[in-house]
Formats: sequence, structure tokens, C-alpha cells
Amino acid sequence: MTVSNQTVQAVDTEIERLEESMIQFLSTLVEKRTVTGNERAGQEVMANKFESLGAAVDRWEPNPERLRGHSGYFETSTFEEVGYGGRPNVGARLDGVGEGNSLGLSGHIDVVSVTEREWDSDPWTLVRDDDRLIGRGSCDMKGGIAAYVTAVEALQAANVDLEGDLVLQSTIEEEAGGVGGVLSALERGYRPDAAVIPEPLDIPHIGTASAGVMYFRITVPGRTAHAGRAYAGVNALDKAVLLLQSLNDLDETRKGRIDYPRAYRADRRLEGHVTNLNIGVIDGGEWPSTVPGEVTLEGRIGWPPGETREQVRKEIRRTISNVATRDEWLAEHPPELSWFGWQAEPHEVPLDSRIARVSKTAAEDVTGNEGQFVGGHAGMDERFYKNYYDINAVSVGPYGENLHGPNEHTTVTSLTDTAKTLARIIMYYCGVASD
Ligand SMILES: [Zn+2]
Repeated sequence: MTVSNQTVQAVDTEIERLEESMIQFLSTLVEKRTVTGNERAGQEVMANKFESLGAAVDRWEPNPERLRGHSGYFETSTFEEVGYGGRPNVGARLDGVGEGNSLGLSGHIDVVSVTEREWDSDPWTLVRDDDRLIGRGSCDMKGGIAAYVTAVEALQAANVDLEGDLVLQSTIEEEAGGVGGVLSALERGYRPDAAVIPEPLDIPHIGTASAGVMYFRITVPGRTAHAGRAYAGVNALDKAVLLLQSLNDLDETRKGRIDYPRAYRADRRLEGHVTNLNIGVIDGGEWPSTVPGEVTLEGRIGWPPGETREQVRKEIRRTISNVATRDEWLAEHPPELSWFGWQAEPHEVPLDSRIARVSKTAAEDVTGNEGQFVGGHAGMDERFYKNYYDINAVSVGPYGENLHGPNEHTTVTSLTDTAKTLARIIMYYCGVASD
């Protein structure tokens, strides 16, 4: 795995030459407003780009029938709302000239929605302010996509022949759980020896883990009655509050028990918060004069590697049944628990795996700073590779600020550094012919 300094230099020079076109490409992607569920226009841009790299392009819509039996499958909220019709994934393969390792470069084209009044500029127009690039998706993760495309263009422009194959893909619905995206691509047969996803984890930090994430719903029964004759009813909201308090206690207990330093190495504020349970929705009651007969709580639990989905579910079930046994009404009318939306297991890539080591070396070389292995605080697409196909997948991406919020941005410097880092990873991992 030796790549000459001369080759690395030549590729860096090409990336610098391509900087403006990388920004232009990012700008085109931002304009496509690919909010999860509406990815098609962005995928057309990606398909054309893959074609321009000389690859045969494969477009396909996820097949829920085929995915349903998979242990990584769950019904995503966007699938439930709009289905998978008109929402293609795009894949392409660039054959290497030898027998080197194959590497996947994968990015999600979907972005989260915007609240326009919170923005200082149009979120769907990429604005350059000195080094900053502002727009929805600029860092999460169209910037990373533009960087990996630029890395491949630069390798081609510098006439670098790779030994191993490159698998390029642009996937849908990561923000809703990625089932129809990365999982669908793996099931279609895109299974490289390792993969890199340029999510904005800020090189030289390298993402090597993701969190488990699950949504749940608790339906709490009561009995309606006129407020003036409340003795005849049972207030479901009061019962829901009992559950809310116990779930908050569970969250505190878990926070005290569970530690995962990788999750806060890049942001110390997360120390003590590597697991989190949030009740985000309370719904119930009909009328101020009526004792509420049913209340629904919806929540999300996130946790770092170390516990399985089933272990976490068991703990929530136990908390709810403990509340129910202590309450006369709930003992007779137990709350109903169901799971919906995100049901992701956490994942962890071994730090001594080749792709993790190569990525850290490359990122440190480009930035001149020491990197850390980070991750385990958010659910990510990388888990599908590792958990179900034993393929190590890492995140190597740009600096990003305000992702999912107003004035989301990255920087030109960081995108260029990301492209240089990715080009090195590709060369080191796939091998370069006759260098
Ligand atoms: Zn992302």
C-alpha cells in the first residue's frame, strides 16, 4: 500500500483546481430541495454526475416486500406517508484495474425541512460568506457528497489507476432511518470491502460508531366523565404523568449507569448524556369540561453501543409495568406500548480495522491536526454495513454547524480538506497500480 508523494501531490493539485466546480455542484444540490420523501430531483443530478465519471448508472426504487423480512428493517415514517414510488436510489461502480480492495462511497441525498423565518438567507440557495457556505444540506450532507465526487474527479484527472473497485451511491431517507436507502443498496448487492460515508463529523475526527434509536408510543387509558362529576371518571392525563415521571427517572438512572467516551470526545457537553430518553409528544383529551379518557405519549430513546434493541425495550417495558402494578386503575387497565418509526441498533467499528486506521492517517495528514475516533451519539446509516453484512463503515466528513437548524453551514476549507482526505483513503485502501 505505498502511494508516492508525487501522486498524492498531483491529486491535491487537481482538487484545488476543482474547488470552484465542487462549490457549484454543492450549490446545484442545495437548490433541489430534497426533503426526505422528495429526493428525486437531487438523484437526477447525482445520476448525471456518476455518468460523467464514466460509470454505468443503476437507478432503483426500494422494494418494501423484499426488505420486510430483514432484521434491519422497520417501516420508516416517510414510507408510511408517501411510499417508495418516485424515490430512486442511485448506484454506480467504477472498476479498478487490479485485485485491490473495493471501497464504497455513500451519501444520503435527503435533508430535513426548514423553518424559513429562522434563516438569515434563503435556505435553498447556497450562500458563500467568506469561507462559509450556508444552505440546507450544506454540511448534512451534500457538502460531503460534493467532496467525494470531487475526490473521484481529481483521481481521474491525475490519471490515477486504482487497483480495487469504487462503489458510488446516493441514497434516500437517511433522516427517517435509511431503510429504503443504504439497506436497500446492500440488499441490491452493493457490498464493498469497506465503506466511507462523508457525514459532517469534522475531520480529522473519524466516526466509528452510531447510536441505537427507537421511537415508541404509549396509549394510556382512562374513563371519560363530566368534569362536574369527575368521581365517575378516571383522568388519563394524570395516569400519563405517572408514566412520564417514571420514564424520566429511568432516563436519569441510565445516564448514571451508561458511559461511552467516543460519544463526547469531540464535544464534552455530551458527557453524562450519551443515552437519552425524550417524551416528545403528548396527545389526549377532548374538552375542558370532560375528564380525558385516553392520552398518548410518544417518545424516543437513543443509546450508545453496549446494549441491544431488545435489552433497551425490556427496560422500558419493565418501567411501564412497574407503574401499572402500583396504580389500581392501571393494574386493571394496563397502558399499551408499541414501537414505530426508527428502530435502529447501535453499531461500532473496530478501531484497529484497516479502514478506520487509513482514514485517521489520511485526515491527520491533510489537516495537520490529531484526530479522535468519535461517534455513538446519533443513529447513522453506517450501522447497516456493520451489523448485517460485517462491512466496516466509517464517517469521514467536513466541519458542520447548525445541522437540522437555521443557517446550516460548512466551510470551503473543510470541504477541500475532506476531498483531499477521501482521495487519500481511496488510494491507500484500494491501492494504486504501478505507482
Ligand atoms: Zn446526515
